[in-house]
Amino acid sequence: MTGLSRRDLLRLAAGLVALGASVPLRRGEADELPCHLRPNHCGEWEALAHYIDTVILPIPDGNPPPLIPGNPESFAEFRRPFPRVPVWNPPGPQRVGIQAGHWRYDQSPDELKNNRLNPGTSGGGKAEWEVNLDVCERVVARLEELGYVVDLLDGTVPIRYRAHVFLSVHADGDVTGTLRGYKVASSRFSATPEADQALCTALWEEYGAATGLTPQPNQVSNRMTGYYAFNARRYQHAIAPGVPHAIIEMAFLTNAQDREFLFRQPNRVASGIVNGLRRYLESIEPSPPAPLRQFLGELGP
Ligand SMILES: [Zn+2]
Repeated sequence: MTGLSRRDLLRLAAGLVALGASVPLRRGEADELPCHLRPNHCGEWEALAHYIDTVILPIPDGNPPPLIPGNPESFAEFRRPFPRVPVWNPPGPQRVGIQAGHWRYDQSPDELKNNRLNPGTSGGGKAEWEVNLDVCERVVARLEELGYVVDLLDGTVPIRYRAHVFLSVHADGDVTGTLRGYKVASSRFSATPEADQALCTALWEEYGAATGLTPQPNQVSNRMTGYYAFNARRYQHAIAPGVPHAIIEMAFLTNAQDREFLFRQPNRVASGIVNGLRRYLESIEPSPPAPLRQFLGELGP
């Protein structure tokens, strides 16, 4: 299913031996082992992350090849789904990553250097990133009140970022100034499409209910479903495969009515996002006790 090579199988066997090793440890000794070798719960999730990042979808080298328009080869990696992996769901407090789209766009790393030229759309005297950041700060404050661990992220996510959910927050733009409404999408190459679908459904419904804005499912773009921060095959600075994720375009900053709503009702905008995230997070089943072993069992011998 995952097309493992002989070399991968050997690494896999070594990993299994490490996991299954029942070496007697003195008190305190286990804490000094590398995390993926520790015989505890946390170690199981670390082992899974290590396996995904080295075998299933190794972290790229930070020098993505140029995308040449018209060359189907260079865009194939945006269409091919990632291998399926377990949903990232370690025990303990649920962690949420909230990305303020385009924030600190000028500080993007070399592999995302095109982003240094992209502050997003603008309208009403504000750059998109300012509007995104304002809403995100409200979302973060509310989620923290609710007991979640929250990371407020700028346009560049940490390398192989992991959380129980990741949401990228944007505002839309169009040259005519007539388009209105909101959109939600996940990546078309996701490793966890069912979880992403559940997240997107929660966001579509809760955001619409809180804001009264019009959903525009037919206007979801390739830029959303191929969003760079989802693309762990091409970029180092991307969420890890297995992290349930979505991107939301909150409304059109280029439309007078939408803009008015974004500027005057940011708390309603934020609560729509919070309600969607919360509904999804509360629906997650408790984490499996041995995710890597269970996953390898599903892959078969
Ligand atoms: Zn944007």
